[in-house]
Amino acid sequence: MARETSKHQNSGMALVAGGGIGGLTAALCLLQRGWSVHVLEAADALEEVGAGLQLSPNAMHVLDALGLGDAIRAAAFEPEALELRLGRSGQRVFSIPAGPAARKRWGADYLHMHRADLLKVLANAVRANPAAGISLGARVTGYKNTESGPQIMLASGEPLAADLVIGADGIHSTLRTQMLGPDSPRFTGNLAWRVVVPMERLKHPPPPTACVWAGRGRHAVTYRLRGGTLANLVGVIERQDWQGESWTEQGTKQQALADFAGWPLPVTELINQADAHYRWALFDRAPLACWHDGAVALLGDACHPMLPFMAQGAAMGIEDAWVMAREVTQAETVEAGLARYEAIRKPRTSRVQAASRGNMKTFHRKSPLGQLATYGPMWLGGQFLPGVVRAHQDWIYGHNVTATDR
Ligand SMILES: Cc1cc2nc3c(=O)[nH]c(=O)nc-3n(C[C@H](O)[C@H](O)[C@H](O)COP(=O)(O)OP(=O)(O)OC[C@H]3O[C@@H](n4cnc5c(N)ncnc54)[C@H](O)[C@@H]3O)c2cc1C
Repeated sequence: MARETSKHQNSGMALVAGGGIGGLTAALCLLQRGWSVHVLEAADALEEVGAGLQLSPNAMHVLDALGLGDAIRAAAFEPEALELRLGRSGQRVFSIPAGPAARKRWGADYLHMHRADLLKVLANAVRANPAAGISLGARVTGYKNTESGPQIMLASGEPLAADLVIGADGIHSTLRTQMLGPDSPRFTGNLAWRVVVPMERLKHPPPPTACVWAGRGRHAVTYRLRGGTLANLVGVIERQDWQGESWTEQGTKQQALADFAGWPLPVTELINQADAHYRWALFDRAPLACWHDGAVALLGDACHPMLPFMAQGAAMGIEDAWVMAREVTQAETVEAGLARYEAIRKPRTSRVQAASRGNMKTFHRKSPLGQLATYGPMWLGGQFLPGVVRAHQDWIYGHNVTATDR
């Protein structure tokens, strides 16, 4: 049972399974509210895949509130705009100003960051806190709710006791499987290519924007990282014949080029100049029936993995972390706090999961008629009603979980 330190202020010991972006952010949010936290990570090192991440204002609100904004800005790249272009012709469909305009409209920065850089900022902040610990090579195998609080089991055999257990152990979450049964995430019929290239290698660099290039049954996203010294590409193609999910598995340059043959040079040159062409199949899940069991709760990809077509998976885990920490601290009991956490978060993450699936259709229109019907009105909107196009993003980027603190 968590200790009550003051009126509706729980704190105690939290165990977090998983040291990814979601788990480390959860640790920091709990630490800020007076909890002691131990992160249990199965891998032998805290590592992220060598690729970029879009950090939208809704995520930056939390990272700023954790005091990490300056460290993040120092390592990130700020795009000038968010754009949609046609994959083959390069024709711009619309462009929404970012930079100062994003700050003005959504209250925080819109940034691009190398995943390894973000993980480093988060891990350094956890390690700098005397109330925190991180164990590597610590594989969690399950949990138990006992009368004196939840316990976590490690592969090494020891049970660890806590007041709160968070399962931030990713799309194949062990804690989710125990909580809800052994069904698999669903294959979405998409494969993603990922490459990162030093900018100095590129004669036709991607624009200084977050640029989606939409095409038939495929799309690419280009953006810059690390102060503009690196260029990043995510290239997604619909195909059913490959379902590998290793973060380190590579395809060949020829395969990636064939998937984007005839596309504009900022896309194909990025593929051509990359040393490594990582690829993995994309999976998601339908919203889960339940996110918690007693004082054990799921967070991030463990409970709402989504297609990356809104660039919101990590952002949703970051938002979860803030709300979870606030609610478990302020509710009468940890269990009541977790119930509120689920009630607050599920409608939003379910909507983003659905919107991410919806963007697959929007970005991948296959027929010329479908393309005209989709991109024509968007182009007109961008030309004549830019405020309306911008307002379409407000529900996602303008959401500030730190502003609704009780
Ligand atoms: C192509 C692509 C592009 C994307 N682009 C964006 C983007 O631009 N913006 C964005 O916000 N999101 C993006 N996402 C989504 C984002 O990458 C994920 O949502 C996010 O990384 C999930 O973080 P997480 O911490 O919940 O899970 P993970 O990153 O999967 O971390 C889980 C951690 O738990 C550990 N673990 C697993 N099992 C155990 C166990 N049993 N015991 C202990 N530890 C365990 C793992 O080793 C890992 O470190 C993208 C995703 C893809 C695939």
